[in-house]
Amino acid sequence: MAKNYRYCPYCAADLVEIYRFDQIRPVCPACGFVQFQDPKVAVIALVIYEERVLLVRRGVEPAKGRWALPGGYMDADEMPAAALQREIAEEVGLTIQLDALIAIYPMTNGEGQPIGIVLAYAASPTGLSTIITVGDDVAEAGWFGPTEIPDDLAFESTTTLIGVWRERLSSTKNSDPRRHIKRHEVD
Ligand SMILES: [Zn+2]
Repeated sequence: MAKNYRYCPYCAADLVEIYRFDQIRPVCPACGFVQFQDPKVAVIALVIYEERVLLVRRGVEPAKGRWALPGGYMDADEMPAAALQREIAEEVGLTIQLDALIAIYPMTNGEGQPIGIVLAYAASPTGLSTIITVGDDVAEAGWFGPTEIPDDLAFESTTTLIGVWRERLSSTKNSDPRRHIKRHEVD
C-alpha cells in the first residue's frame, strides 16, 4: 500500500483517520477529501518475432540490471494497448500490436505487500523494422531464442511468462512430425 497522506492535498488541513466506506481511511475534516488506496496498474508484453522474445535489461529499480519483459505503468487516461505501445516505443523504439491477454498477476512492493495488478499480453512488432534502439529506463535490449534466455530475470512473472512461451513453442514443434524427427536427430 502507498503511504497515507498526513495533510489534505487540496486544502492542507491535517487529515484524520476514520472509518469511511468500510475501512479506516485518511479523511479531511475541512473539505471532506477521502484518501483511497487505488491499485497501481502495469502492462507488460511478451513480444515475439520469429521464435524470439524481446527482453530489456532494466536501467532503473526495482530489479535494476536484470532482464525483464518490456512494459510499464498505465496512465489514468490510457487503455492497456495504448500504454504498452507507448512504453515499448519509449524503451526500444518498436511499434507493436497486442495479440491476446495472457494473464493478470498481482503487483507487490519491495516488502511483498500487494499494491496493484500487472496485465500481461502477447504482442508482435508491426513496423517494417525489428531493429531495437535502447531508450528510457533500459540499459540493454535484445531478441532471445528459447535456449538463449538470460539467467538473471527480473520478476517472478518474467520467469513464468517465458516458461509459458517456451512450453508452447516446444509443444508446437513436437506436434509437427518433421520437426519431431529432426529434434531427435539433433539430440
Ligand atoms: Zn481538505
